[in-house]
Amino acid sequence: MPDPNGFLRYDRRLPARRPVPVRISDWREVYPPAGEELIREQATRCMDCGIPFCHDGCPLGNRIPDWNDLVRTGNWDAAVESLHATNNFPEFTGRLCPAPCEAACVLGIGGGQPVTIKQVEVEIADAAVARGGLRPRPVPAPTGRSVAVVGSGPAGLAAAQQLARAGHAVTVYERDDAIGGLLRYGIPDFKLEKEHIDRRLAQLAAEGVQFRTGVDVGVDVTAEQLRAEHDAVLLACGALQGRDTPETPGRQLRGVHQAMSHLVAANRVVAAAGDGRPALAVLPDGTPIDAAGKHVVIIGGGDTAADCLGVAHRQGAAGVHQLDLYPEPPETRDAARDPWPTWPWVLRNYPAHEEGGERVFAVAVQEFVDDGTGQVKGVRIAEVSVEKRDGRRIVTPLPGSERELPADLVLLAIGFEGTEQQPLLEQFGVRRNARGAVDARPDWQTDADGVFVAGDMHRGASLIVWAIAEGRAAAAAIHAYLGGVGELPAPVDPARQPLAAR
Ligand SMILES: Cc1cc2nc3c(=O)[nH]c(=O)nc-3n(C[C@H](O)[C@H](O)[C@H](O)COP(=O)(O)OP(=O)(O)OC[C@H]3O[C@@H](n4cnc5c(N)ncnc54)[C@H](O)[C@@H]3O)c2cc1C
Ligand code: SF4
Repeated sequence: MPDPNGFLRYDRRLPARRPVPVRISDWREVYPPAGEELIREQATRCMDCGIPFCHDGCPLGNRIPDWNDLVRTGNWDAAVESLHATNNFPEFTGRLCPAPCEAACVLGIGGGQPVTIKQVEVEIADAAVARGGLRPRPVPAPTGRSVAVVGSGPAGLAAAQQLARAGHAVTVYERDDAIGGLLRYGIPDFKLEKEHIDRRLAQLAAEGVQFRTGVDVGVDVTAEQLRAEHDAVLLACGALQGRDTPETPGRQLRGVHQAMSHLVAANRVVAAAGDGRPALAVLPDGTPIDAAGKHVVIIGGGDTAADCLGVAHRQGAAGVHQLDLYPEPPETRDAARDPWPTWPWVLRNYPAHEEGGERVFAVAVQEFVDDGTGQVKGVRIAEVSVEKRDGRRIVTPLPGSERELPADLVLLAIGFEGTEQQPLLEQFGVRRNARGAVDARPDWQTDADGVFVAGDMHRGASLIVWAIAEGRAAAAAIHAYLGGVGELPAPVDPARQPLAAR
């Protein structure tokens, strides 16, 4: 029986982040472990409210009150078991999830302080490693059926693990040189050290999952070959088509890049160099894309932009501006606009924001300014108002508000336009819809029979927790399609949306 008064005795507390000067001198994670005393105290704040809206906030349906109480009482092995019953990779979500569960926690009603669910989750995930490692589950007798998973992000990996554990032969195809999708080369080490991925991959491999890196499906191997070799195919290729701004004057200048080019280059250097100060980050063609000594302007206000900010500081940028088209959000939930338990529009301060740089809200770039040699030297911005008319976004510059910011490196972090246009789509006979995503039927099959889709490729650029949830659900559908015995858990269906006020 959970402690009904814990939240009255204890305030919400998170572990202190590592000091800024220390953490920007390396690439290690920002948060140290919370320690058993703090995390048991925080888990005690969960009152087991009876109708846990946090379950609905979490697309995985994580059994949050159950494992909070197991942590409170020190039953770590049972907490590990309970958490893994719904989540294949809590070490990723515990570190990276924006925690829609916390926005839906009863303790957050009326501006209160929700349980630190995500922190409890990561401590349980790390306890699993500390208490005997991520042991592979015994695999049942082979079913004789085989599945190809294309793409090795969290959606593909979650599906692969579920299917292997059901006895199917699973091969994951990845065009990169390493497995992990955006977790590997998109998200920097200061948010997720890569040993967490490697440890989980060892478990998947021991459970029978085969990995084939450096294979661009549609180029190195055709859809026809894949279909001939496997009984079903899951496409989990992500939504990696970066949005651009070709109409802005000066876009072609040297020094103006997609944010992902910057992040991938930086992550590759860290991967090669370990924990030392990295060498210069370069594009695949050798062009430097390093922020050292540079004035950096990051355009965009989301996860990707914050990751660029953290990377720029670790590379030694001279100064960083981060531009957002929208006005500064409020610090707290506007209950009229986003009532509890929905996800609120509030100012999100990532750890990268306390490391330096200046955020500029309600501005739009008018021009990337040429230094006369074809290299960017500045960004001309104007203050703007943004309104929605007939479903379209209208951006209006304020006359006389223009000014120039210095910029040697400009990073476009303005979102993604769905999955990439690539040969694989046509070969499998699947189409991108108006959002650039690939539609799924209610059983996760695409327009092509036996070809399933999950994760960002289906949902559009989203979150790791959604990718894992869709990977699990698609695996359940594939298992049924292959005539597997029993049912696998399916936390979401293809039409499921985040909690919303209707
Ligand atoms: C910079 C950045 C930071 C983010 N930070 C967070 C965060 O903090 N928290 C959070 O919850 N979410 C975050 N996200 C979103 C999150 O990373 C994604 O929602 C998630 O990774 C999607 O998983 P996925 O498996 O669908 O696809 P991905 O992780 O994108 O993986 C798709 C994989 O498919 C491979 N692929 C594509 N085509 C082929 C092909 N033809 N053949 C073989 N392989 C192919 C790609 O190389 C890639 O490895 C972030 C996203 C970005 C870009
Ligand atoms: S995965 Fe995300 S939403 Fe689900 S319990 Fe963990 S932090 Fe909350």
